[in-house]
Amino acid sequence: MPSPTTIIGLEVHVQLQTRTKIFCGCANRFNPDEPNVQTCPVCLGLPGALPVMNRRALELSVRAGLALSGTIAGLTKWDRKQYYYPDLPKAYQISQYDLPFCQGGHLDVDVEQENGEIQSRHIRLIRVHLEEDAGKNLHDESGRGGDSRVDLNRAGTPLLEIVSEPDIRSAAEARRYLEEIRLLMVYLGVSDCNMQEGSLRCDANVNLEISNSANESIRTPIVEVKNLNSFRGVEAALVYEISRQQREFEQCGGIYADTAKQTRGWDADRGVTFAQRGKEEASDYRYFPDPDLLPVSFSDEWIEIQRAELCEPPADRRRRFVAELGLSEYDAGVLVDRGRETADYFEAVATACGDAKQAANWVTQDVLRELNEREETIESFPIDAQGLASLLGMITSGDLTTRSGREVFSSLMNNQGGDGSIVERIASIVEERGLSAVADSGALETVIDAVISRNEKAAEDFRGGKDAAIGKLIGEVMREVGGADPNAVRETLISRLRP
Ligand code: ZN
Ligand code: MN
Repeated sequence: MPSPTTIIGLEVHVQLQTRTKIFCGCANRFNPDEPNVQTCPVCLGLPGALPVMNRRALELSVRAGLALSGTIAGLTKWDRKQYYYPDLPKAYQISQYDLPFCQGGHLDVDVEQENGEIQSRHIRLIRVHLEEDAGKNLHDESGRGGDSRVDLNRAGTPLLEIVSEPDIRSAAEARRYLEEIRLLMVYLGVSDCNMQEGSLRCDANVNLEISNSANESIRTPIVEVKNLNSFRGVEAALVYEISRQQREFEQCGGIYADTAKQTRGWDADRGVTFAQRGKEEASDYRYFPDPDLLPVSFSDEWIEIQRAELCEPPADRRRRFVAELGLSEYDAGVLVDRGRETADYFEAVATACGDAKQAANWVTQDVLRELNEREETIESFPIDAQGLASLLGMITSGDLTTRSGREVFSSLMNNQGGDGSIVERIASIVEERGLSAVADSGALETVIDAVISRNEKAAEDFRGGKDAAIGKLIGEVMREVGGADPNAVRETLISRLRP
């Protein structure tokens, strides 16, 4: 029996990084500590209050749509999607129904297959539209039957919804797709995509195509898993749901009593999906155009202005780092996936020092290690790109050994070298510690000869075959000439003692 085909489509919700909400002047800010303070008659849904569209939300949305290669509509409009929830005081959500601002588009993602090969997957998009977020219901989870409360700080937050075609073929692929959407949105400055704060959430539609015993191809009923808010959650929920649908198919032989789409939730603690409700059809929502908001038209000039604001997408940047700068796929991925500022920092170091591979080694290892330890971001990193580039330049030119370079690096991290520019501080650290590599080997040899004559016993032991005795000699030379390359010292000593 052929193995089943997994069919997944994702609906991704991204909160936009605007200063104010989408239809009122309330602050758009994550604020769970003071419920209901970022509210006004508009986002509370009071009678007679009228929405006013946030222009910035449309700009960011159109940039996202362009970056996803979608077609921006000349005319778009707002529709009311009716449903009742305690966290939706108007009893309708302002959304976009039949004229979304963006149609089509796609996102290409590299996905590691089960055999370890990287495959580029082309995920088509159906549409991207803009809507308002709802508030939040806060339920007492102590089990002692406390109150449920409603916090409307989030009500009216601009929300971008990116709907994919069912082109995703595995749970791992869904995760990669979501990771790439997140990175793109963060690069564009469209959203902070902070998943702990709910700025990026997704619903996953999944079913399987399986051959039954008569060799007919059967599709299992579609399940929508709602409100997944972590990468791990998306992957784990889909892995679970795929095997649940397979088990169910084996039990019923592909004959289902109810083939309607079902909505399920994800219980991360128990690692299972659970039935919630029958999924509404679009007709249940009774969409109709919002009479309080005018349709919006975009001129070609305005769309081009938005296009000019786009940055190089992360996928292009990874490819360029590999093709033009000679980085490994792995290093390019680490640098780009860490965020736009880190990639910019690396690129500035690489350009200034002229050695991209060395710059990549230092940024991916030394710089990122320090950032992780200090839990800081690259913006507050104490060594600027020019400073790191000049340090790397001294290593390349042989003025410093790699070992001394690391010593200077950690001295800089510990705020040593005075309070001049990084370049000045490097010079004073090198000077203070005598780290400058000995330019003429003659000077090094003089020190080595002196060390040998002071340590006759160790020298004799080494001549007599006791290899370990050389350690003491190397140590003493290095103490005198801090910047010397230990390998060169070892070689010179050996040539002197065992000619
Ligand atoms: Zn408001
Ligand atoms: Mn939605």
